[in-house]
Amino acid sequence: MTKVFEAADATNLMTELRRSFDSGVTRGTEWRVSQLKKLLIICDNHEPEIVAALHHDLAKPELESSVYEVALLRNSINLALKQLKVWMAPDKAKTSLTTFPASAEIVSEPLGIVLVISAWNYPFLLSIDPVIGAISAGNAVVLKPSELAPASSSLLAKLMEQYLDPSAVRVVEGAVTETTLLLEQKWDKIFYTGSSKIGRIIMTAAAKHLTPVVLELGGKSPVVVDSNTNLKVTAKRIIAGKWGCNNGQACISPDYILTTKDYAPKLIDAMKHELETFYGKNAMESKDMSRIVNSNHFDRLSKMLEEKEVSDKIVCGGQKDRENLKIAPTILLDVPLDSLMMSEEIFGPLLPILTVKDLEDSFDVIRSRPKPLAAYLFTQNEKLKERFAMTISAGGIVVNDIAVHLALPTLPFGGVGESGMGSYHGKFSFDAFSHKKAVLYKSFMGDSAIRYAPYSRGKLRL
Ligand code: NAD
Repeated sequence: MTKVFEAADATNLMTELRRSFDSGVTRGTEWRVSQLKKLLIICDNHEPEIVAALHHDLAKPELESSVYEVALLRNSINLALKQLKVWMAPDKAKTSLTTFPASAEIVSEPLGIVLVISAWNYPFLLSIDPVIGAISAGNAVVLKPSELAPASSSLLAKLMEQYLDPSAVRVVEGAVTETTLLLEQKWDKIFYTGSSKIGRIIMTAAAKHLTPVVLELGGKSPVVVDSNTNLKVTAKRIIAGKWGCNNGQACISPDYILTTKDYAPKLIDAMKHELETFYGKNAMESKDMSRIVNSNHFDRLSKMLEEKEVSDKIVCGGQKDRENLKIAPTILLDVPLDSLMMSEEIFGPLLPILTVKDLEDSFDVIRSRPKPLAAYLFTQNEKLKERFAMTISAGGIVVNDIAVHLALPTLPFGGVGESGMGSYHGKFSFDAFSHKKAVLYKSFMGDSAIRYAPYSRGKLRL
């Protein structure tokens, strides 16, 4: 039986990691590189176990696991290994007459001991990717994976314990009790991925110690579809971005579509056609789609679907199988704006389409709601693309595709407003776990009398 994690364990953990961080071991390039290489070994040597754990937790298709969890991590680690010295090098800063003669630089300093709390939907990616940033930046780190993906959580704990330096990198498994004990400690940064509701608990706990946070939250990410689009590609990409990414259980999954009344039937027909091409006549039997994570989430989604004035808006799908935790890809047309489905993040295989009179009205619908983590537009209209990108506030915007911005490490990944704060990926991960320290080297020269008392107007004329 695994030992229960208690308050004393949390304080002991902090003492051990603090000792290790204070020894300076994690600051060295050598240590950072060695730990990153160990993470790479985990990806390279243990992919079959990772795929199996993801299948156990979510029935995630092998290809999705290999590409969206393992390959993305491999890219992230390789980029960190390649760029580490560049990222670590101080940036020269300009000086001015006021400080002359002097030189100045911005030094990226590790923050100390950081906590990464992760979610269940991409349990490897969302756990290891922030850890890559924490290690690259020279921190000691504790990872708390999600208890809702138990096979992944225990594999993460096993592999990280086997490969990484236990004096500075640790995994604590558990749920609310364990996370609460961890949150009582004084961290130098907390990086949290999960819902906005729990994000508030994390931020409240962090505030007690003035600990900075990165909150990678969720929200309702809209997709605007213009009639001037490539319909076939649009339908395929929406489907791949919704049901092909963990069956809609992804933070940047399309949550709802906005299109015009005239165009909706064409879009629905095209999506039905492509859904059948992707998943066959009975999508419930497809092996190419993850299942719902657990019965609580199944019931939450069922409640949304069964609500009055919603269930009769289904235009495709709607089948459910609680025993096997499956819900068919389901498209709905014009569900009420005050329904559960339009009030909460769906985070599952349901996709409502809302119709607007004029496509421009869709901008107002998006603006009237909390800022989403992602916003998508499909169009061939250049002016519309620009207007969307410049006037819609979201964590990220993609035109003519879904979710692909996540795979580009030159772009920051993070939310705005209720979808989160802070960002990561590539150099942004390194920066998220670094303090940008201002360092100014002053010469003894240029010691102007004006700065010293006794002050006098006369000195100004010197
Ligand atoms: P969640 O908020 O339920 O749980 C996330 C983590 O918080 C888990 O590790 C869990 O153990 C911990 N936790 C849960 N309750 C807690 C409590 N009371 N006190 C302290 N810790 C607690 O989120 P989830 O269901 O795992 O993930 C789904 C949500 O996460 C969705 O909203 C989704 O959009 C969002 N998400 C965001 C991103 C992103 O990168 N922005 C990625 C994945 C998921």
